Amino acid sequence: MIEVRRLIKSFGGLDVLRGIDLTLEKGNVLVVIGPSGSGKSTLLRCLNVLETPTSGTVAVGGARLDFRPGAKPRQADVLALRRRSGMVFQAYHLFPHFTALQNVMEGQVTVKRMPKAEAKDKALRLLAKVGLADKADAYPHQLSGGQQQRVGIARAMSIDPELLLFDEPTSALDPELVREVLKVIRELAEEGRTMMIVTHEMKFAREVADRIVLLDGGVIVEEGSPEQLFERPREERTRRFLSLLM
Ligand code: ATP
Ligand code: MG
Repeated sequence: MIEVRRLIKSFGGLDVLRGIDLTLEKGNVLVVIGPSGSGKSTLLRCLNVLETPTSGTVAVGGARLDFRPGAKPRQADVLALRRRSGMVFQAYHLFPHFTALQNVMEGQVTVKRMPKAEAKDKALRLLAKVGLADKADAYPHQLSGGQQQRVGIARAMSIDPELLLFDEPTSALDPELVREVLKVIRELAEEGRTMMIVTHEMKFAREVADRIVLLDGGVIVEEGSPEQLFERPREERTRRFLSLLM
């Protein structure tokens, strides 16, 4: 289970997350929507401690960390949390001088200290799973955006994370490449992976989400099932946000 309690993140005087409470059951998919600047990326980054929360609690599976203003968390606790989630970024963030295979092996060797031969077998399996068995030796610049993003997904899965985080995984892609990436994410949802996805693809959100959260101004404005949130929004702000997308 994933738990976020009273999560606050400020950058200097700017309060970006202003008390977020979330629970995500194992095997469920939570989609986060909201206007630009509402704190969606910051929330995901706090979950795997790419940003250090100002205060609050983050728990992923058995790893739980309480953050306090001005107190630096122990590195061992940060790593314990970070190892439990895999992040897929909007702009892929692949190592340009590594092949697809090497990109997927990297985390297993450095984070998990897995022997190279084993890491390679697993990386090849994951590349096959995302439809890229024939691209193992290609460098990122030799791949399309959709292919690079699928390498990014294989890489995020390579450390067997309990939680997969996706930050607008398709928004840098040409429309014809979006579908192949969404297909892979949909398959992961069907397998029962626990995932948190920030997306502007509302049709996809509706299909894949167990729960949807609307974030605005660093607070959760509304949370509900896709049907409830899209068809019977309770909050005026949700209605306004959704009407802008139609
Ligand atoms: P978008 O839909 O455009 O990606 P978002 O909801 O992901 O937006 P965030 O990237 O989380 O929004 O940013 C929320 C706010 O926090 C913005 O005002 C942004 O400028 C600010 N912010 C984010 N990261 C930092 C940082 N490292 N330093 C200072 N301010 C930051
Ligand atoms: Mg963002």
